[in-house]
Amino acid sequence: MTHDKFDYDVIVVGGGPIGSTFARYMAEKNYKVVILDKKTKIGVPLQCAGLLGTKVKELNILPSHIIINKVNGAFLHSPSNHTLHVSKKEAAAYLLDRVAYDQFLSQKAVDQGSELLLGHKVFDADLKKGEVKVKYKNQIKKLKSKVIIDAGGHSSIVSRQFNPQPKTFEAIQYMVKTDQTILDSENVHLHVNSKISPGFIWVIPLNDSMARIGMFSRLDYIKMDNILSDFVEKNEAFEKSKILKKYHGYIPQYDPKKKLVKDRTILLGDAASQVKPTTGGGLLIGFECAKIAADVVEKALANDDIEILTDYQRIFNKKFKSELNVQLQIQKTFELMQDRELDSMFLKLKKEGAEQIISECGDMDSQSPLIKEMIKSGIIFSVLPKIFFRRITNLWKST
Ligand SMILES: Cc1cc2nc3c(=O)[nH]c(=O)nc-3n(C[C@H](O)[C@H](O)[C@H](O)COP(=O)(O)OP(=O)(O)OC[C@H]3O[C@@H](n4cnc5c(N)ncnc54)[C@H](O)[C@@H]3O)c2cc1C
Repeated sequence: MTHDKFDYDVIVVGGGPIGSTFARYMAEKNYKVVILDKKTKIGVPLQCAGLLGTKVKELNILPSHIIINKVNGAFLHSPSNHTLHVSKKEAAAYLLDRVAYDQFLSQKAVDQGSELLLGHKVFDADLKKGEVKVKYKNQIKKLKSKVIIDAGGHSSIVSRQFNPQPKTFEAIQYMVKTDQTILDSENVHLHVNSKISPGFIWVIPLNDSMARIGMFSRLDYIKMDNILSDFVEKNEAFEKSKILKKYHGYIPQYDPKKKLVKDRTILLGDAASQVKPTTGGGLLIGFECAKIAADVVEKALANDDIEILTDYQRIFNKKFKSELNVQLQIQKTFELMQDRELDSMFLKLKKEGAEQIISECGDMDSQSPLIKEMIKSGIIFSVLPKIFFRRITNLWKST
C-alpha cells in the first residue's frame, strides 16, 4: 500500500446491522474503525419484518431480549386460498425487535472500539485514494482510510461509481392490532397471487393480538397500500383491528453481475444487493458477508496489499452464487404463473404429500436442497404446468 497519511484503517459507510457487525469484527482485531451514518438515531424508522431463520444464532450475537416471538410454521395461501401448512418441531424462525437489534449491534461495535459519527452523510468518495466527503450539519469534512466499506443500504452512493443503478422492489408494512386475542402466534401466513408476484403478502404475529402485515412486489407504493388495506379489511382475523403504523422501504434485487470490489472499496449488505431473491431477506446473508469481508480486509491490511480485497468477490461467488441463482430462477418461474396455475400447483402439492417434504427439507434461507429433493421424488414434475418442466430441470442442471 502507499505511505499516504490515513485517518483510519477502515471507514464504514452506514451503521445498519451489517455495517455495525463488520465494524465490530475489525475493532475486535484492533484496527482503527469509524462508522459514518447519516441518521441521528440508529435503527429508526423500522424498515423490516424482522423474521430470521434460527441460524442467525450461529452467525451473530443475538440476546434473548431482542426476540419478540418464535415461530415454527407457515401457512402458504394460493390465490383462491388453497393452503399448505409446513412446520418444524422446534422454532424455525425468530421475530426480532429490529430497531433494538440495530441499536444493540451498533453499541457492540462501539464497545469494541469503533468510533460512531451520527448525522454524517457521505456524499462522495474517491475509491483509489480511500477518501470520503462527508456532510455534517453545515460542515464538509474529508476522511481518509486504507479501506472503505460501503454498507449504506440500497441507495449506496459508492456502488453507483462502478455499477449500474440497482433495481429494487418497494415494500410496505403495517403494524396491526386486533381487539381480540385470536391470532395464532406460532405460524406466519404467506399469500401469493399473480398480481403481486414475485412478491407476496406476509402476516407475522408478534403475539396473539398484534401482527406485522406487509408485502413487496414490482408495484408502486400507492397500489400496494390499496392491496394491503383491502387484504386487512377482508381478512376475518383482522375484522376488528387497527392499523397502528405504516412503514415503507426498499428491497434490492440480487444482481449476479454486480461488482463488489473496486480499488480500496468493498460493498456489503444491501449496498451489495446481498438479498435472498425468494424472501427479500438480507440479514443472514449480510452477517455472513460481514465476516468474510472482515477476514479479507484483515489479510489485505496485514499484508499491506489492497489487491487481496478482490478475494471477497471470489469467496462470495463461491459460497452464495449458486443458491442465489436457483432462487432467481424460482422467482422468475413464479412470476410466469397465472392465478389458476398457482391454485392448481397448491392442490397438486397437497395431494402429492409435499407438505411433509417441505416441512422436513424446507429452509426459509436456502431453497436448493428442497428443490433437489422435489426433483428426486418426482413431485416437481407432477405439480408444475408442463411448460415449466424443461426450464426447471435446465436451471437445476446449470447450478
Ligand atoms: C419492509 C421490509 C421487510 C424486510 N424484512 C426482512 C426480514 O424479515 N428478514 C430479513 O432478513 N431481511 C428483511 N428485510 C431486508 C433487511 O431489512 C435488509 O437486508 C437489511 O436492513 C440490510 O442491512 P444493511 O446494514 O445492509 O442496510 P440498512 O439496514 O439499510 O442500513 C444502511 C445504513 O446506512 C445509512 N446510510 C445510507 N446512506 C448513507 C450515506 N450516504 N451516508 C451515511 N450513512 C448512510 C443509513 O442511514 C442506514 O443506517 C426487509 C426489508 C424491508 C424493506
